[in-house]
Amino acid sequence: MATLTDQFGIQEALSKLGIQEINEGTSTGSNSFANGEIIESYSPVDGTLIAKVKASTQEDYEAAVAKAQEAFKSWRLVPAPKRGEIVRQMGEELRKYKEPLGQLVSYEMGKSLQEGLGEVQEMIDICDFAVGLSRQLYGLTMHSERPMHRMYEQYHPVGIVGIISAFNFPVAVWSWNAMLAWVCGDVCIWKPSEKTPLCGIACQNIIKTVLERNNIPEGVSCLINGRDNGDRMNTDKRLPLVSFTGSTRVGRHVSKTVAERFGNTILELGGNNAIIVSEHADINMVLVGAVFGAVGTAGQRCTTTRRLIVHESVYDKTIEVLKSAYGQLKIGNPLDSNNHVGPLIDKDSVQNYLDAIEKAKQEGGNVIVEGGVMQGEGYESGCYVKPCIIEAKNSFEIVQHETFAPILYVMKYNDLEEAIAMQNDVPQGLSSSIFTSNMREMELFLSHAGSDCGIANVNIGTSGAEIGGAFGGEKETGGGRESGSDAWKAYMRRQTNTINYGSELPLAQGIRFDL
Ligand code: NAD
Repeated sequence: MATLTDQFGIQEALSKLGIQEINEGTSTGSNSFANGEIIESYSPVDGTLIAKVKASTQEDYEAAVAKAQEAFKSWRLVPAPKRGEIVRQMGEELRKYKEPLGQLVSYEMGKSLQEGLGEVQEMIDICDFAVGLSRQLYGLTMHSERPMHRMYEQYHPVGIVGIISAFNFPVAVWSWNAMLAWVCGDVCIWKPSEKTPLCGIACQNIIKTVLERNNIPEGVSCLINGRDNGDRMNTDKRLPLVSFTGSTRVGRHVSKTVAERFGNTILELGGNNAIIVSEHADINMVLVGAVFGAVGTAGQRCTTTRRLIVHESVYDKTIEVLKSAYGQLKIGNPLDSNNHVGPLIDKDSVQNYLDAIEKAKQEGGNVIVEGGVMQGEGYESGCYVKPCIIEAKNSFEIVQHETFAPILYVMKYNDLEEAIAMQNDVPQGLSSSIFTSNMREMELFLSHAGSDCGIANVNIGTSGAEIGGAFGGEKETGGGRESGSDAWKAYMRRQTNTINYGSELPLAQGIRFDL
């Protein structure tokens, strides 16, 4: 009988991505800075050991930084639109590998194949965005207060950008950072999550062919694996910018450590996202937005809907349709398109999910849709859980927390200002949304007195951002912005230039200094 792995074409996908030494105990692909301990990558889909990868040691790390420093010297001199052309080719390459890379994302991380493919599409989209951006790295010109002076600002690359990414978007988050950093003239060192090292290697293999074809030094894109390298990056003055995506707990440490050496960070941390369901909401739309938001990626998106704040007049109806929808959810292998919900990343996550449900019950929560761990055929990895719904209060300690699992807390309100206050009353500030067809409610939600999150949506859920907007959140989500709009500015240093083309040297503010 064909194994699950063969059945869904994973071996072939791995081979197309240049990951061939399955279970041989050696590093795979083109990770050239890898002489350390073994990291084992298990699939949460079926528990298979997919491959073993070698971590990078201190010496490997030093080699990567040296290569990146050397590459920066020439890469920064390549005109930005020409750098854009290299990124355009990377986008083309990603289009070719969309299918196998999407399969690997699904198999190594556990999200549905559709979402895996969507993640690769997001990489392609950011490449397209970055190509256009490469001709738009604009500074301003200003009028000088002094005669015969010209003043303007320009943006220069910062150097080496350290990218530390989370397991749940194992390829897209890297590309959001790397593609922008590259058109800006920076070079990148990427440390993927130790839970998804193969995704990192696959991306590096894809990018490498483009660099080689164009005679670009490989140090433009360095990959290092292994958790210890996180702290090496945090404390390394040669990395002026560390872009960190992950939990608030680790992000707090990264933030402090990098700030200590006056480095810059982009922090994309945990969320605790709510949908407000108004009395004027279209319940059919709420259903799709809330269910996809709460159970998509098995509740392991930073933008996952964790709280539903429902107007008391439509509360019973909303609960009824949700219960019915949850009853129809199919839980199982995410590579099988019939299933809606795949596994959690590992058994620790399953335990966190169980603990959170228990804690919610202890605090007085009322379980509306029961959770639990799936047993039996197809669930051997032990990572499949049932999405659950719990009636709770916003003030519960567990509700104030991000549990990275499909647990949806529901609560009632009767006045929109009260609902907005509840939505804002958590430590995190990533994504938020309101479902309403009432213009006043919508505008209040989006006003200064409205949502305090980095993302505020109307009549769509909290998850599923487009690359064109700046992505990120406030408060304990870290304040970083990535991807679209003017997020590129974080990857460059601004310089103000004043040129005197006259024959006198007047001082600013009219100060006299006669010699
Ligand atoms: P995590 O914090 O456990 O790990 C994230 C990364 O940090 C990994 O690569 C890990 O190896 C690395 N790391 C660990 N210790 C480190 C250290 N001392 N210094 C530097 N790096 C270190 O997070 P996770 O479980 O992989 O991901 C889930 C979390 O990420 C959730 O909280 C989720 O909300 C968040 N997330 C946020 C966004 C966003 O854009 N806001 C996107 C995706 C995920």
